[in-house]
Amino acid sequence: MGKHAGFIVVGSRLPGAMGQTLTEKILDDHLVEGELETGEEIGIEIDQVLTQDTTGTMVWLQFEALELDEVQTELAAQYCDHQTYQFDFKNTDDHRFLRSAAGTYGAYFSRPGNGICHQVHKENFAAPGKTLLGSDSHTPTPGGLGELAIGAGGLDIAVAMGGGPYYVEVPEIVNVQLEGELPEWATAKDIALEMLRRLSVKGGVGKIFEYTGEGAESLTIPERTTITNLGTELGATSSIFETDEKTKDWLSRIGREDEYVELQADEDADYADTVTIDLSDLEPLIAQPSMPDNVVPVREVAGEDVEQVMVGSCTNGAYEDILPAAKMVEDREVAKHTEMIVAPGSKQASEMLAREGWTAEMMAAGVNFSEATCGACIGIGHVPASDSVSLRTFNRNFEGRSGIEDDSVYLCSPEVAAAAAIKGEIVDPRDLADELGDLEAPGFTMGDSYSPGMGQDDPDIIAPDEAIDDELIKGPNIGDVPLKDPLDAHLEGEALLKMEDNITTDHIIPATSDILKFRSNVPKLSEFTLSRVDDTFAERAKQSDGGFLVAGENYGQGSSREHAALCPMYLGIEGVLAQSFARIHKANLFNFGLVPLTIDEDTYARIEQGDDIEIVDDVEEGVKSGQETFTVRVNDDWEAEAELDASERERRILAAGGKLSLTKQQYGEG
Ligand code: SF4
Repeated sequence: MGKHAGFIVVGSRLPGAMGQTLTEKILDDHLVEGELETGEEIGIEIDQVLTQDTTGTMVWLQFEALELDEVQTELAAQYCDHQTYQFDFKNTDDHRFLRSAAGTYGAYFSRPGNGICHQVHKENFAAPGKTLLGSDSHTPTPGGLGELAIGAGGLDIAVAMGGGPYYVEVPEIVNVQLEGELPEWATAKDIALEMLRRLSVKGGVGKIFEYTGEGAESLTIPERTTITNLGTELGATSSIFETDEKTKDWLSRIGREDEYVELQADEDADYADTVTIDLSDLEPLIAQPSMPDNVVPVREVAGEDVEQVMVGSCTNGAYEDILPAAKMVEDREVAKHTEMIVAPGSKQASEMLAREGWTAEMMAAGVNFSEATCGACIGIGHVPASDSVSLRTFNRNFEGRSGIEDDSVYLCSPEVAAAAAIKGEIVDPRDLADELGDLEAPGFTMGDSYSPGMGQDDPDIIAPDEAIDDELIKGPNIGDVPLKDPLDAHLEGEALLKMEDNITTDHIIPATSDILKFRSNVPKLSEFTLSRVDDTFAERAKQSDGGFLVAGENYGQGSSREHAALCPMYLGIEGVLAQSFARIHKANLFNFGLVPLTIDEDTYARIEQGDDIEIVDDVEEGVKSGQETFTVRVNDDWEAEAELDASERERRILAAGGKLSLTKQQYGEG
């Protein structure tokens, strides 16, 4: 497939299988390793990648370490959306570095303020049948256009840009049958909230949802992408719609009709499960604080006083999302004790609203505007007042996410949000319409002049051939990413730190803002490694020539934070001896070339901090050959056994010194 001609295609579909789901068709088309069977690990080729500003700097530093001249995927796009207020030079430096990286390596660069990655990508680049990997959890948004889009860690993005496959366990494919049509005042947001109400925030783990049926066909592309965006809240790997005339029309309106591909599941496709929703039964719904699946009909919480209403985000920030709210407040006033803010998902949406006069109408009604950014969604700006209700069209209302502990954030459609702004309290828009007498359901029809995006002409997107930088510009807070040498035959060093059970990634690298601002600066960040356990550790590790960590059960639980493996690696740690490991952190240890060895309770009890640890076996040979048991000699005095539980792929990664090093070996020649 295209630029990846160097791959040996060893992937295969099981013989005699039934018809294929849409997801299986796309996976099959991109399969480079493994068998397309639920639960099996496969490698797929990635066509497009996206990164945003908080994850992007590490992605590009890792890409730099690969020493490639340019990105190998068909398309890469770098967005600046999470921290666009640039209140610290570190953010501005990060953005300038991202621009220079995009220019140097051939990615599109979306300037700060141009919009949220998922909205802008949808408007400009998303294409049916392609695979998209993004370093943001809501990457599945363009599934509404038939693109198979998956969120992943930064190193996976860098490796994909370097030409490597993305490895994923084949998820269960679940069919969501949408029947009937939405009644007045019910919206696509209510379909997504209904899914959350039924399945919960864990209901999609290990699954891809495939939306089909006449109800799916009745939805516009922005409505479909609202649903695929919120699929992340179900914990799903991705969500996707079949393509049809609406997809084709939408693409043709931005001059990209040649990218249309007809994609449908086979009639006899074999789904793991089916969820049926009759759209005509839906009514306006709302997610109560502080979980997206805490969903009830709006009428159940009507009358609750509302101090803040926000319309926008990557979920409902398109022109087509904001327009209904604009029509509802036209010639009316926002309640005096309520603040209504529109935070468009893209500058394109802002521009279209302005050109058509809707911005002026909303301003006249008392609405304020934010620049097109994530901002308030992650507590940067527009923090709700203490002890107040904020109604938002966003996708997450986790406690404290709005920027204040004990917040009270509800999630709803733009229509419900606008109704609350007018009334000053939560109200079902159907009841408000009865009360006002002249409030009509706004709806949305695409007129002839309607264009949902700027195609390739967006002035705020710098294309690779317009790049203004051809070398990386690193401010003082941007360091290099360390690369590890291939695994040695002989591993020996001090047990630098002995820890208890349940050490979290927060213990390893704290996530407080005063420390995470060094996310682009591994040397600086690593000074904080395990400082919550022992503030002398980083200094001692730096001074010693290699060394080990020793821990009890469940080492590395918590987030998927890559820095929790990267920083110990930078400090020279060779391996971790623990009674057990948290799954994701163990994968990260492999990815950064640290040997994770499991020891039993007695061994853990006998090893003391400061002991000299030696792996007696030839480690390099053992890892490569599939050896599972290694002998650990302590203080040249006593010996114990340690287990290495690793797949063949993980052993290859470990032997090479980590995933970056392996990728460099495999594809670094260009
Ligand atoms: Fe993430 Fe919120 Fe930004 Fe969407 S708007 S990408 S959910 S931070």
